[in-house]
Amino acid sequence: MDVIPFVNTWPYEKQMKDIYFHTCPFCQESNVLTNLKIKDLEKAQQAIKVRLIVPCCHEVITILEADEDYLWTDQKLRK
Ligand SMILES: [Zn+2]
Repeated sequence: MDVIPFVNTWPYEKQMKDIYFHTCPFCQESNVLTNLKIKDLEKAQQAIKVRLIVPCCHEVITILEADEDYLWTDQKLRK
């Protein structure tokens, strides 16, 4: 697989069973509770694609991989 550029990453925070974004990459909403489940995160950590619809603005993120801090996606999320 091609190396995913860092601009395609977005940090997440895990609290118990919930996955949060400190800030939404699209609309800058703060403390966004995503609908990702722990098992979705585990899939992403095994490089299985996971689609996420961001609840605040309904943008779609395709997660290609995940590590302990970041979601690695197929689109540029950082400026
Ligand atoms: Zn948003």
